Amino acid sequence: MKKLLLVACLIVCLFHTCAAAGPLEYDVVVVGGGGAGLVAATAAAEQGSSVIVLEKMSYLGGNTIRSGGVINAVDPEPQKAQGIEDSTDLHFKHTYEGGDNKANPELVRTLVEGALPALQRALDRGLKIYPEITTATGALWPRTHRLVEPAGTGWIRVYSESAAKAGVEIRKDTKVVSLLREEPLAGRVYGVKAVDKAGNELEIHARRGVVMASGGFGADVKLRMQHNPALGPDTPTTNHPGATGEGIIMSQDIGAAVTGMDFIQLHPHGDPKLGDLTGRASDFVQKYIYVNIEGKRFVNEAERRDVQVAGIMAQPETRMFIINDKNGVSDPNIFGDHLDDLLAADRVQQGDTLAELAEKIGVPAAALEATVARYNELVKQGKDVDFGRPENTLQQTIETPPFYATPRVPTVHHTMGGLVINKEAQVIDRRGEVIPGLFAAGEVTGGIHGTNRLGGNAITDINVFGWIAGTNAAK
Ligand SMILES: Cc1cc2nc3c(=O)[nH]c(=O)nc-3n(C[C@H](O)[C@H](O)[C@H](O)COP(=O)(O)OP(=O)(O)OC[C@H]3O[C@@H](n4cnc5c(N)ncnc54)[C@H](O)[C@@H]3O)c2cc1C
Repeated sequence: MKKLLLVACLIVCLFHTCAAAGPLEYDVVVVGGGGAGLVAATAAAEQGSSVIVLEKMSYLGGNTIRSGGVINAVDPEPQKAQGIEDSTDLHFKHTYEGGDNKANPELVRTLVEGALPALQRALDRGLKIYPEITTATGALWPRTHRLVEPAGTGWIRVYSESAAKAGVEIRKDTKVVSLLREEPLAGRVYGVKAVDKAGNELEIHARRGVVMASGGFGADVKLRMQHNPALGPDTPTTNHPGATGEGIIMSQDIGAAVTGMDFIQLHPHGDPKLGDLTGRASDFVQKYIYVNIEGKRFVNEAERRDVQVAGIMAQPETRMFIINDKNGVSDPNIFGDHLDDLLAADRVQQGDTLAELAEKIGVPAAALEATVARYNELVKQGKDVDFGRPENTLQQTIETPPFYATPRVPTVHHTMGGLVINKEAQVIDRRGEVIPGLFAAGEVTGGIHGTNRLGGNAITDINVFGWIAGTNAAK
């Protein structure tokens, strides 16, 4: 009898050990707990799928949570109230031509048509925005919506809550290392291999689909130098440390095609010490100008980001200051920084006169005074004959003290290239065929922004394509 019990126990133990070591199974597996991943997970789970999100960092949010959170969407009602003419055709034109016609037009069309429904979806789930429409840096047109919550926290709060409500399981500290496909370069993608913090290897199967939402590679010096050797370790970045691009490489390993990998965007507003975008006294182009260390304007401040950055790179010491007056202050700014703290930390300088400000930042006072006076004259004339700044950004003079200066340098910001997808967010292989079972969304993909992404369009991207990817993966 004792022997029989022992054997029975052994069988039960063996069964449990095998079961514990065996693959986990869900309908949908999402790689990455940033914006696109949480949107995709919510979409899939709300359709009744069992969903797991695997996030390698110990926190959710990726680049999305440290973003400015601003989103572009043509939104006729508030735009009309501010006298702004707009259309999805115009948003298409700005996005496509602003990326030098290198994007896939079908994806751009999907982006601009999906923008307002995507914003509405988030509002329905508790996102809060200000009514005023503005223009993000390099957005080219006033169709940018600003969140009430600081940085990108609103997006991550709304979609973590929605995902949790829909029953999504989230595992942090779990890094996906490879994709599982029936054949090395053929058949369905049916899951992933991952490693947890303790070093345990996990195999997780997806009955319906895997969504790759692992973000870009702005923080990976080696990978970005492969595509632009000028962007070495001394070039700062705005990105979170997990933006290292292995989702692109592991998808290539099972046959995925990539596009636009050389298109790496620098942002003109890098903090000289931190490389990130925090710390500026003024957020939106309507409220400021740029000057170089000689106190002179040098570029249309409302231009494409690549044009702005090229402008800075042509200046002495390749740095600049954002200059605004009291009426141009954003307090708090979109990252949640308060002016008093920025002044106390010497990240922003203040002067009761332009001459005082000039002295503090080490630029010639007469030049700064002349530059600002000339700019005010152009605003009053309604035409920037010097640098061609469009009328809808030429509305506010800089003449009410105190005056402020925020030092800025170019910083690596966005990787426009990545996995080739179609408008259903299915990943395409090197022969142009759909890879069954594999979907992708967000900065891990390419072909949406061409050579240069418009400010505010990436948050649109993660919402539009994240939702499509999650919906289709759940089918
Ligand atoms: C400072 C800053 C400000 C910005 N401001 C704006 C803005 O205001 N408006 C705008 O439109 N765009 C903005 N952008 C760009 C935009 O925020 C990003 O392009 C977008 O949020 C990317 O979202 P994502 O979901 O694709 O990637 P992420 O949000 O970066 O999420 C990817 C996630 O995947 C995880 N991951 C990566 N590899 C693995 C792996 N192997 N296993 C498991 N998990 C993995 C990462 O850790 C990360 O959490 C900004 C970007 C930055 C950095």
